[in-house]
Amino acid sequence: MSRRNGRTERRQRAKPVHRDGPARRGTSFRCVGCGLDVPMWAPGTAHRNHCPTCLCSRHVDRAVPGDRASSCGGRMDPISISVRGEGEWSIIHRCGACGVMGANRVAGDDNPLALVRIAVRPLSHLDSVR
Ligand SMILES: [Zn+2]
Ligand SMILES: [Zn+2]
Repeated sequence: MSRRNGRTERRQRAKPVHRDGPARRGTSFRCVGCGLDVPMWAPGTAHRNHCPTCLCSRHVDRAVPGDRASSCGGRMDPISISVRGEGEWSIIHRCGACGVMGANRVAGDDNPLALVRIAVRPLSHLDSVR
């Protein structure tokens, strides 16, 4: 007969876990690409919807930026840059979950290096020997 009633596991008391404070809702979001906490406000745009560092976004809007009408929640990776007439840059995002694409205006503090990297990405494929 082995140990009788040998339950030695320590009982874990259920602690209330505060992971995201309720006060932070609506003021920042966690980037799905690099994990950065990104403040919602941004220079030059009313709705920041992508990370200024890695430019990843999240599929939360359906038709209008900021409408938060989509329940997809997939990660949207920047795939291209579009430049309008007066030099206004937009990032083209594609959702990795459902494949939908959308254009988002760049914000004033977006990482310029990351923007340029996306813009020249088609060229970098030509240069496969590094
Ligand atoms: Zn990021
Ligand atoms: Zn999606």
